Amino acid sequence: MSKNEDETQKTVVACTECGDMYVARISPDGSIQPVGIVDCTCGGGNLNQIRNEYSID
Ligand SMILES: [Zn+2]
Repeated sequence: MSKNEDETQKTVVACTECGDMYVARISPDGSIQPVGIVDCTCGGGNLNQIRNEYSID
């Protein structure tokens, strides 16, 4: 009944260009949305998912 944000699936994405890693959220439709950013700060890489169901305390 209560809304629980912890149920949101999270993952980690890594930039293919510079290797920076970011936390991302997995939407109910399965798309991956990096948290707090749109693209990597280097501006050149793709963000690839590297882990599934990464849990954050
Ligand atoms: Zn990058």
